[in-house]
Amino acid sequence: MELSYILNELGEERENYFNAIAPPIIQTSNFAFKTVADLRVALSNEFEATLYSRGHNPTLNILRKKLAALDNAEDALVFSSGVAAISIPILALLKQGDHIVSVENPYSWTIKLFKDFLPKFGITTTFMDGSELENFEKAIRPETKLIYLESPNTFSYELQDLKAVSGLARSKGIITMIDNSYCSPFFQKPIELGIDLAAQTATKYIGGHSDVVAGVVTGSRELISRIFNHEFMNIGATLSPHSAWLLIRGLRTMPLRIQHSFKGAEKITSWLLQHPAINKVIWPFNADFKQSELAHQQMQGCGGLFSFTLKDSSLEKIETFCNRLQHILMAVSWGGHESLVIPTIATISKDDYDRNNGRHQLIRMYVGLEEADYLIKDLDQALNH
Ligand SMILES: *Cc1c(COP(=O)(O)O)cnc(C)c1O
Repeated sequence: MELSYILNELGEERENYFNAIAPPIIQTSNFAFKTVADLRVALSNEFEATLYSRGHNPTLNILRKKLAALDNAEDALVFSSGVAAISIPILALLKQGDHIVSVENPYSWTIKLFKDFLPKFGITTTFMDGSELENFEKAIRPETKLIYLESPNTFSYELQDLKAVSGLARSKGIITMIDNSYCSPFFQKPIELGIDLAAQTATKYIGGHSDVVAGVVTGSRELISRIFNHEFMNIGATLSPHSAWLLIRGLRTMPLRIQHSFKGAEKITSWLLQHPAINKVIWPFNADFKQSELAHQQMQGCGGLFSFTLKDSSLEKIETFCNRLQHILMAVSWGGHESLVIPTIATISKDDYDRNNGRHQLIRMYVGLEEADYLIKDLDQALNH
């Protein structure tokens, strides 16, 4: 399906709402039925019905169709956060005694899910370096039911070979799931590479304006209905119709925004690389990135998130640099219109800072919709202080 069709037409039935270009926000909790027979049909299979807005809602359905098509997946579910889009499918597909093989250092709340939350239900996780296929082979046990990927990582950018890992998992009957937030389906289509479930936060690039928290998972109709029928409906992390509407609006301009972010990161990372105060820049599309070949093979573009370290890696220097930025804001999250930085040192206590630990030194930057030269000027004045 063509991208322009997906973003501008798919799922939109304008003749049903006065030929309005923008879809209506169907702000309703429930839907009425004319006959007991019709109501019975809806109650017997809520996945196929529009019955109650904790399940399906017409505004959300427009969004679901577009998101599924972007991933070339059969179906999609949307959630009230990206974390819900990760946790709920995992809770739906695993049970007591099952085992997960996960990449090391996935998104922080995913780590908490695997380390603190799932063990309460008897589900255990082995973390391993996902850049080598043989590490997956070694970690798989007879009770392994899920391989969990995040490629690239959103702080340190390690990749996994999605085609190779999905092939291995398939041969052993293990479900694969990826957090595809970094690339979004515009730059990476995991389902086409054989991955079963592609989750992403919609808070970042899809929303795009730092005003919605939401998430999405795509996959086969069989898996999506399994997730819907139990944990999705039971946990109830439902997206509001208004938020769904904002995400449909975000999707219209997403190709332009993500391209701008990509090109901005390209320009800014090459500027940083030649700056005397910079030690290292990590971005999957940089020539010196250790998995650069794999990145170009399975990604059609690169996100605007990258990390760098300063030559002077003292805690004070990193803090002063970040504090001196005038236009680039300091905040968590990314994917909005505004450029951001966040240093790893903000996530640990000062006493735990180890200047020999590469991860501790990282400063992450997200390139938003400002002009690259404007951001470079800001970085330059903060670096030269
Ligand atoms: C932000 C983020 C999430 C979580 O999404 P929320 O919408 O904040 O719940 C998950 N994974 C990655 C990589 C993220 O950056």
